[in-house]
Amino acid sequence: SNPELQNLYEAHNWLTKLYHHLLRHTKEGKDGYELLKERGLTDETIDEFQLGFAPNSKDFTKKFLENKGFHPQSMVKGGLLSYNENGQYGDRFRGRVIFPIRNHQGKTVAFAGRSVNGNDPKYLNSPETDLFHKGKLLYNFDLARAEIRKRGEVVLFEGQMDVISAYQAGIKNGIATLGTAITDAQAKLIRRYVERVIICYDSDDAGIEASYKAANALKQAGCEVRVATVRDGKDPDEFIHQFGSESFKQQVLDTSATYMGFMIQYLKRGYNLQHEGDRIAYIEKVLDEISKMDKPIERDHYVREVAADHDLSVDVLEKEIIDRRKKQG
Ligand code: ATP
Ligand code: MN
Ligand code: MN
Ligand code: MN
Repeated sequence: SNPELQNLYEAHNWLTKLYHHLLRHTKEGKDGYELLKERGLTDETIDEFQLGFAPNSKDFTKKFLENKGFHPQSMVKGGLLSYNENGQYGDRFRGRVIFPIRNHQGKTVAFAGRSVNGNDPKYLNSPETDLFHKGKLLYNFDLARAEIRKRGEVVLFEGQMDVISAYQAGIKNGIATLGTAITDAQAKLIRRYVERVIICYDSDDAGIEASYKAANALKQAGCEVRVATVRDGKDPDEFIHQFGSESFKQQVLDTSATYMGFMIQYLKRGYNLQHEGDRIAYIEKVLDEISKMDKPIERDHYVREVAADHDLSVDVLEKEIIDRRKKQG
């Protein structure tokens, strides 16, 4: 309806097709194609996700868009071109594998570009534009929606590559945020469709911290949260590539921890549980978490677990929980 937005949709549509064509059928796109092949993606997957390649040129995309009648100025505003060092219009994405970012209706509204030669930054994304609000958008939600409904479950990944690898391996209910922490808007959107969320982030420190934050945001939104751990310091994409989809399902997704199971481990970070003072501080934090649980049966379960683990009396821990719940009102 709005002609400016329409214009920007069209530009994204053209570039999606152009970049995809370059990757699949030209020698200019060879570096990108080879990177995706090395990482185990099939032609079918590359086609389904319309993955592409933006050539390493300062004005290839600019000329293409001009020929199609798009104004460079509005293309800069739309995040598809940039001003270069000399105050001239030029290509924003250069020498990068292109992941079209589709909105929830399946239209491309942005691009993520991954460098093929180790250039920084590893990922360059479109900026916020009139089409692209990254705090509201969930990557792959359009393709995953039906499967999410069917399974009553969604898998939340860290990166596009994880989503795509999992999809190719038959896990078609995967989504991701775009290089940012999950927002309340995204958590609420997820909850509108489904209750159960498996967080499946990278196993490095950044991934564990992000899992903790996402778990809280999703719990807050009313989701039943589980947290999966990828062994061996890998991310889901690498794990699937090395060990296959059955191992990923059985050893990662099916063994995901409950929210509290994850917290009991997570909260240990930074404490030396051999020291009495640390141990008490840690137990206090765990009790804080348990006291927030709605279901008495769950509280009872974890109180007993903590009591057994730390050789404490269930009675004392129960009193602690009651005190905390009174304060919470
Ligand atoms: P790859 O497997 O291609 O190396 P990845 O998905 O494993 O990529 P991570 O470093 O784990 O990459 O980052 C997770 C996600 O965070 C990426 O998919 C991307 O969306 C985002 N991201 C990573 N680095 C950047 C960056 N420099 N700028 C913006 N977003 C980034
Ligand atoms: Mn990571
Ligand atoms: Mn990763
Ligand atoms: Mn990766």
